[in-house]
Amino acid sequence: MLKPALARLWRDERTLQFGAVRRHARVVEQVDRPVAAFLDLLDGSRSTEELIAAGERLGLGRAVAGALLDSLARGELLDDAAALRQALDGYPRARQELLGPDAAALSLVHPEPGEAAEVLTARRAARIEVRGAERVGAALAAVLTARGDGTVTVVDRGRVAARDCSPAGVPATDVGRLRTTAAREAVHRAAGSPVGERHRPDPVSAGPPALVVLAPRDGSAAFGGAATEAHELMRAGVPHLYVGVVEHLGVVGPLVVPGASSCGRCASLTRQDEDDSWPRLLAQLDGTGAGRARTPACDSALATAVAGLAALHAQLYLDGVLPPSVDGWCEVSAADGMARRLRLPSHPGCGCLWPSAPVPPQGRP
Ligand SMILES: [Zn+2]
Repeated sequence: MLKPALARLWRDERTLQFGAVRRHARVVEQVDRPVAAFLDLLDGSRSTEELIAAGERLGLGRAVAGALLDSLARGELLDDAAALRQALDGYPRARQELLGPDAAALSLVHPEPGEAAEVLTARRAARIEVRGAERVGAALAAVLTARGDGTVTVVDRGRVAARDCSPAGVPATDVGRLRTTAAREAVHRAAGSPVGERHRPDPVSAGPPALVVLAPRDGSAAFGGAATEAHELMRAGVPHLYVGVVEHLGVVGPLVVPGASSCGRCASLTRQDEDDSWPRLLAQLDGTGAGRARTPACDSALATAVAGLAALHAQLYLDGVLPPSVDGWCEVSAADGMARRLRLPSHPGCGCLWPSAPVPPQGRP
């Protein structure tokens, strides 16, 4: 089928442009009446052989119809309708409709015919663990689910406080409920599941998570904290992504691929190079540290933007594309609305990328 996500725009009477985004748009020239009629048949309901036969009936001839299909495929305008349908059939019916626009977007990002279906099938089997059910973590888990991830679990404890609530994650009506329950329901809603339906884990998604997102409530992940957790993840070889909001700054990254990219400890050591006192300051900020803000700031728009950006980076990585938070991190500022990407080379004192990858020592640097 011609990718249904692409706009079809006539540049003149015989020139058809596919796609409105100029950088990716493709133009088909000399579109006369039979060619236009042939293009209308590429709606995913016919096999290649049926299309070529239809081209013959339209007066194009088999060779021209075949050459036209080849040319459209080279121009990345075609997708494999049957494969995409099969990938969507793996989801419950209510979710298939919700996933329609996401699948359409996938066919543009992964342009070869059948590639979007492969990515979607892999998403369904993925298990992602989000640690932290506050404004960023719960919203992020819901967004990942909305994009088709099979099993997204949210780990936290305690009960929902007003500061945890967000229109994209746990709603204000959930204040006082268990955080894990409220976050799980946010994930269910994103999947289109009826309220109250019991969650059954998918048997194919057992085993270690494909990715762990560290989004602690205190935002300390924005500074590459969580040393003990990070140490365990490094040792187990589990990819993990730091996400947090501290004061007016939202941070996405680094996304750590153990043994292949710089890690959270690299971030801490780099910061220490710039500020000798950093370890002492971090100790006062972290967890129950005495220096923490009395009323932690977390702008709603910033938290939602950070959750969305982090979900995009996590998914890019799981879909096989390296996002800019690998060997770097992205900052989004509530003060000016700017997003910036900063590089994070591996720190020579960390050793996480040394051959035979010695595991970084436990504890805060
Ligand atoms: Zn490192």
